[in-house]
Amino acid sequence: MSDARDALVDVRGLTKSFGSLEVLRGVDFTVPSGSVTVLLGPSGSGKTTVLRSLNALDLPDAGVVRIGDAEVDYVDVPLGRDGRAKGDAAKRVGALRAKTGMVFQQHNLFPHKSVLENVTEGPIVVQGVAKADADARGHELLAKVGLDDQADKYPYQLSGGQQQRVGIARALALAPELLLFDEPTSALDPELVGGVLSVMRELADEGRTMIVVTHEIAFARDVADQVLFMDGGVIVERGEPSQVIDHPREARTQAFLKRIL
Ligand code: ADP
Repeated sequence: MSDARDALVDVRGLTKSFGSLEVLRGVDFTVPSGSVTVLLGPSGSGKTTVLRSLNALDLPDAGVVRIGDAEVDYVDVPLGRDGRAKGDAAKRVGALRAKTGMVFQQHNLFPHKSVLENVTEGPIVVQGVAKADADARGHELLAKVGLDDQADKYPYQLSGGQQQRVGIARALALAPELLLFDEPTSALDPELVGGVLSVMRELADEGRTMIVVTHEIAFARDVADQVLFMDGGVIVERGEPSQVIDHPREARTQAFLKRIL
């Protein structure tokens, strides 16, 4: 693994509790630019919370997250009564969030907006991009995920797999430096999984930096540069997929893989 300073993502000492439940107990990892990291682990091990901490949907209790030139030390982030970062810290957290695009397990598309409008909403509203420019880029992104012919449809008219591909186009529309995927295929019928994974493979081939929570072991084996295995709020084992998946050293990794393979 390259030096932490050269990595696009550098996470150190991340901790997070929900009430008395300690969900992250000191998570450290780096992600080199242009690489794919797959986060594996049993349900409840803290994988989603790691992703949500990276894009500041959840604010860690402590730890440092750096993505490119945006860095937040969560010890220095005072929270308001609404649980959000206050004052200057809110700006730093916002700058970190702007580095990321997230694809969720459920697509979360706006039901009353067309497919194209779902993709252009972020650029127009968040980034102030002119509508004509956002539309042109939106069509390009929909073509990339194989859906430009569906631009004027509404989400309910698409299959679950197509909806997830719109979700990917929507995440790409904000030109994030880091893409986060939270079990993007786990809610799909089996025949729809392949189309979503193949779009993700193309993004990896283009050199996008990605962190993917998934139980798709074949995808992890083929596409990941590193696999992080989490259990109980810590990373128990890490390395190349050929090591972690095919020759796991830790008993907890072995037991998990035995269950899912
Ligand atoms: P994973 O993605 O590995 O399944 P999560 O990060 O979703 O794990 O969750 C880890 C633990 O944190 C689980 O026990 C979950 O119930 C708990 N948790 C997650 N989010 C919240 C929340 N907002 N409030 C309370 N508990 C939460």
